[in-house]
Amino acid sequence: MSYSARHPRHETHAVRVGNVTIGGAAPVRVQSMTNTDTADVEATVAQVMALAEAGSELVRITVDREEAARAVPHIRERLLARGCETPLIGDFHYIGHILLRDHPACAEALDKYRINPGNVGFGAKQDRNFAAIIEIALKHEKPVRIGANWGSMDRALLSELMERNAQSGAPKDAREVMHETLVESCLRSAARAEELGMPKERIILSAKVSEVQDLVAVYRRLAARGRYALHLGLTEAGMGDAGVIASTAGLAILLQEGIGDTIRVSITPEPGSPRTREVRVAQQVLQALGLRAFAPDVIACPGCGRTTSTRFQELARDIAQWLERKMPEWRREYPGAEALQVAVMGCIVNGPGESRHADIGISLPGTGEAPAAPVFMDGEKVATLRGGDIADQFRGMVEDYVRRRWGRRQPGGAR
Ligand code: SF4
Repeated sequence: MSYSARHPRHETHAVRVGNVTIGGAAPVRVQSMTNTDTADVEATVAQVMALAEAGSELVRITVDREEAARAVPHIRERLLARGCETPLIGDFHYIGHILLRDHPACAEALDKYRINPGNVGFGAKQDRNFAAIIEIALKHEKPVRIGANWGSMDRALLSELMERNAQSGAPKDAREVMHETLVESCLRSAARAEELGMPKERIILSAKVSEVQDLVAVYRRLAARGRYALHLGLTEAGMGDAGVIASTAGLAILLQEGIGDTIRVSITPEPGSPRTREVRVAQQVLQALGLRAFAPDVIACPGCGRTTSTRFQELARDIAQWLERKMPEWRREYPGAEALQVAVMGCIVNGPGESRHADIGISLPGTGEAPAAPVFMDGEKVATLRGGDIADQFRGMVEDYVRRRWGRRQPGGAR
């Protein structure tokens, strides 16, 4: 199902970042961030490759000091040598203006600069440093993300808005003033960037917070007050399930309202677990909302007292893992196969019905049911599987289905 069919999307300017478009009519993009030391070229290249292969369409890297800035062009070169053109975004804080000025090769190698208006300096220096980054971005024809953050809010602006609020006839709640500070910080910085010559089509905004309700409130305000492309994400979402759930809750509300052109899921990885999990979660959020398809859906019932053996859980798991292994090949050989829906159901109650709704589905026998598993394709029953190798037989049928439906048309019309 297409985005436009389901969601009235907030209209934004399209921004070109390297070979990827964000905003406008482009699909909502998935991005991620490395956690390697950028000065460590090998480690950073390896992680960017892993994130890109997992499906991250843009990758952000920290550029925090001279060594990191010097490493950036080498990272870009090695990625290109390995066939990876995924846009690289430089994350700058405090000294971005100096690093970009002193390392033009870094400024050129990056596809976008992220600037945090809360930490580019104070007073007159804030404007000077911000302007310096924008001028370098203009010189290299790069877009920027003006990314305010709850944890590093512009203190001078916060004081100004707090003061104004206190003097108003009907003062607002302090939290609301903080929301407004983040939004104003983004919008004033964007206006200043435009004054300096940066077109709207090269500006992306973000205002990240760590609580779901704050995220929703801030982005609704931001979307209502302009057409800048928006980068969405909960910052410091947390570890494990809690981080995934909080990110999903916040992103889902806003995406359903058509707000957000690119997303990142900022979960703290468990020690030793792959960084790519944040990419999978972001993809799953978009896929669950029907906004994009990245990998086949496996629709499986939760099981209940009618499925007392683990056979059905094992089959559902095996099919999901097998589909994941097949996808790199299918993406190449059978474009479109990522939209496949497979149902693996536990018994006769909902099994046949749910299997009929999927592209291909199997309804396993529940406890006490005859040892036979009907298979449905495109709503029709096509076979009944029996025996100890039901999983293999079913996998063969799925593969045939994918080949028939998404196989490239051969010269002469045959598929
Ligand atoms: S389809 Fe059958 S096994 Fe699955 S949850 Fe429903 S009743 Fe239980």
